[in-house]
Amino acid sequence: MTRVNVMRPWLGDEEVAAVAAAIRSGWVAQGPRVAAFETAFAAAMEAPHAVATSSCTTALHLALVVAGIGAGDDVVVPSFSFIATANAAAYVGARPVFADVDLATGNLTRDTVEAALTPATRAVIVVDQGGVPVDLDPIRELCDARGIVVIEDAACGAGSTYHGRPVAATAEIAAWSFHPRKIITTGEGGMVTSGRDDWATRARRLREHAMSVSAADRHANVLAPVEEYAEVGFNYRMTDLQAAMGLVQLGRLPEIVARRRALADGYAKQLAEIPGLRPVADPAWGTGNFQSYWIEVQPEYPLSREELLAHLAAADISARRGIMAAHRQPPYRELTPSSGLPVTERLTDTTLILPLFHELIESDQERVIAALRRPV
Ligand SMILES: *Cc1c(COP(=O)(O)O)cnc(C)c1O
Repeated sequence: MTRVNVMRPWLGDEEVAAVAAAIRSGWVAQGPRVAAFETAFAAAMEAPHAVATSSCTTALHLALVVAGIGAGDDVVVPSFSFIATANAAAYVGARPVFADVDLATGNLTRDTVEAALTPATRAVIVVDQGGVPVDLDPIRELCDARGIVVIEDAACGAGSTYHGRPVAATAEIAAWSFHPRKIITTGEGGMVTSGRDDWATRARRLREHAMSVSAADRHANVLAPVEEYAEVGFNYRMTDLQAAMGLVQLGRLPEIVARRRALADGYAKQLAEIPGLRPVADPAWGTGNFQSYWIEVQPEYPLSREELLAHLAAADISARRGIMAAHRQPPYRELTPSSGLPVTERLTDTTLILPLFHELIESDQERVIAALRRPV
């Protein structure tokens, strides 16, 4: 019996060839392939502008900077997210204010955001958690009227849809991840997309030391133009090696999402017959990419979440505890709201992520389902 892994990126000879071609070209830092990847990504996500970065974490940081968020500001974030979501607010000196999430989707809602607003709230970071689209419009309606910026952390969201369009297509600004744990990968890498020309232009400069002329443009000239550094910038650039890979991966996205949705459907049909296991599902307003196929282990199930993880491990099946709760980590414990975060804690304590990836074969999925059916 071989191990069933919980995830594995889908990579092939095309990625190898694309990266090799970038190396042979002699241009390995941010250059023409990054520009091409930005154009292709913006088109695929129906976003007016795309700016490639070194990660989603740095993309989130840039989003907060261009939105003008800083010291003295409150930023509403879900605790139920990878810790980078809250850290981004801390980077700009703002205070993360944790809002609870919806039990069905694991996402912020208009009501949970409203409950977390303070007089100092200047931004909200919503997350398409595990690839489940957040219901953005009601949150925008609440926030736009108050001059609060809504940033979409779409780290897990590539290929998910909201009201028939790619998630974040209508976001003021969004951040994406190409870490191997996400839906398509460049090794490490990220993207900012935005509907605002001014924010995209500033993000493009800030990711490259706030240089007035990009390094690629300077090197294209025999006599490089003199550059200026108008503000304190960052080095958050993606490399052309990563972008070469990203272009191939982006081409695979429709196939990846179709395969993941078919596998998720297979799980959902079987799990419907097992009392006490509730799987994540599409919400009414969109379709997910099943970046994380999580199930909630409810009291009717004979095993606890920890016991089920051990039971699966004994069958050589690798599963993972569900999404973390940032407010339980040392930097944020003191920011736990007095009302608590009951749904976040329930989901963090009772969910686990089952194996689901492009090359998962049916017989392995059947092994997972058989182990869930026989909890002894
Ligand atoms: C993975 C993840 C991030 C961080 O992405 P990196 O590209 O690794 O920096 C941020 N937010 C969410 C919701 C994530 O899942």
